[in-house]
Amino acid sequence: MTQTLRILLIDDSLDDRALVLHVLSREFPNLQAVEIENAQGFSEAMEAGEFDLCITDYQLRWTTGLDILRSLKDRYPDLPVIMFTGTGNEEIAVEAMKSGLDDYILKRPNRYPYLVTVVQVVLERNLTHRCAKLLEIRLQNLLNQLHVGIFQANAAGELLECNPAFLKLLGVESLDRAQPLIQQLDLQDKYAELARSSTQQRIEWEIQLQQLNRTRIWVLLNATLNQIDRVKVLDGIAEDITPRKEAEAALQRMYEDLEDRVQERTAQLEEANQGLALSNQRLAIVNEDLEEFASTVSHDLQAPLRIIQGYSQLVLSDYAQELSPTVRGYIERILSNAERGRALIHDLLNYTRLSRVELPAQHIHLDVAVAEALDELKETIQQQQAQIQVEDSLAVVQGEYRTLVQIICNLVSNAIKFVSPGIQPRVRIWSEQHDRWSRLWVEDNGIGIIQDAQARIFGVFERLHSDNTYPGTGVGLASVRKGIERMGGQVGVESQPGEGSRFWLELPTAPLENGPGNSN
Ligand code: ADP
Repeated sequence: MTQTLRILLIDDSLDDRALVLHVLSREFPNLQAVEIENAQGFSEAMEAGEFDLCITDYQLRWTTGLDILRSLKDRYPDLPVIMFTGTGNEEIAVEAMKSGLDDYILKRPNRYPYLVTVVQVVLERNLTHRCAKLLEIRLQNLLNQLHVGIFQANAAGELLECNPAFLKLLGVESLDRAQPLIQQLDLQDKYAELARSSTQQRIEWEIQLQQLNRTRIWVLLNATLNQIDRVKVLDGIAEDITPRKEAEAALQRMYEDLEDRVQERTAQLEEANQGLALSNQRLAIVNEDLEEFASTVSHDLQAPLRIIQGYSQLVLSDYAQELSPTVRGYIERILSNAERGRALIHDLLNYTRLSRVELPAQHIHLDVAVAEALDELKETIQQQQAQIQVEDSLAVVQGEYRTLVQIICNLVSNAIKFVSPGIQPRVRIWSEQHDRWSRLWVEDNGIGIIQDAQARIFGVFERLHSDNTYPGTGVGLASVRKGIERMGGQVGVESQPGEGSRFWLELPTAPLENGPGNSN
């Protein structure tokens, strides 16, 4: 659909108006015209104001075309005005152009056909002009709203224009106040650098900028060189990157701090390792000393003890008649004490041996190990008339056979020993087999152990009774724990004073295969 063209036609001559309308309507079929021939008509039209174009004569009875032009441009600066006159001269034309006249055409018969072209050109120019104006307004709005600073500078590094965000970056309110601060941005150098280079299109740099109030911020700038009317200008954007820089610096500090700490820890660890190596060395020496001490003890102490025992026995047998009961009693005490000393040395040697010997893992059928332990204890069992009940099919575990038999001996002999006088010892042995662990239980009807002492009794020389009441060395349970732990297991006890005790040991369950202690 052809767009309507609304024109304001001001001419005193009816014929001229008709001619104009005739010419134009051929090209603009939807032409709407308001024809004016007096001042009142003109002021009414001015009020209504809805026109796309005004065509006015210069010479009017009631005014001049120049006044018409000025009134119109005052009120509607964008309304295109064409002067169409037979009386005008060049000065008038110049004067009119200065006041914003869009075009001028002479009222000559041969000029009429040009009127259409002039109108078209004026309308098109007006449209382009209005579009450009709109674009500029839009661009300006965008620049004003943008949080990134936009600037334009000349070869001298002077600011030509910028948006509010750029001023904010500098901490100023106007362009003139920005000029002294702008030197910090190195714009002149960057302009020169881009102008010199034939390849580089864009340049990016970071600077630390001191704002008007002396606050220091980090700015990232990015600029290109653009040609405007034969002059090159530096167009750029500037961004406040202070938070990013601060985060980077904090990260760097953290990294350095971490590095320091790692170095410090590494040094400490090395020191500790050296210390550990030294301790291990010392420990090895101590262990060697201990072994040496143990063998010395066995030789040096066992030998005199044997001699004391031997001679005491000799005196008792050879001089039996001459000895008074008191002397006999003394010698018997010497003998029993020597026996106790010998047992102590034996137990201690056994204990120290457990710390250092290899305990290779074997498959052990607990039925077999328990039977062997009971066989070793059969004299004691008989003497005490102890009743021992072993459940069928005990578990199969992993451990060192001899050590485990010794451990079971220790537990069973304690179970028989620590009963109240006159009570027949009753011991029950059973096991629980699980996928990974198996437990052996040794339960007695003895005197029981108070809760507080239950962990302590597994330490060396920890005894809860005097030697007179229940003789012993206090090394048995310590050896039990040491042996079991060396075999990768655990020991423990559940007990109530007066209600018996239930000692347990736990060892890894053996995978299915034959080995030492196999009952089959
Ligand atoms: P010893 O039997 O030579 O005294 P142990 O190391 O075997 O040394 O045991 C340490 C202590 O733990 C014993 O002196 C005793 O007080 C207590 N004890 C061990 N087994 C039992 C038990 N079955 N019933 C009650 N007390 C026990």
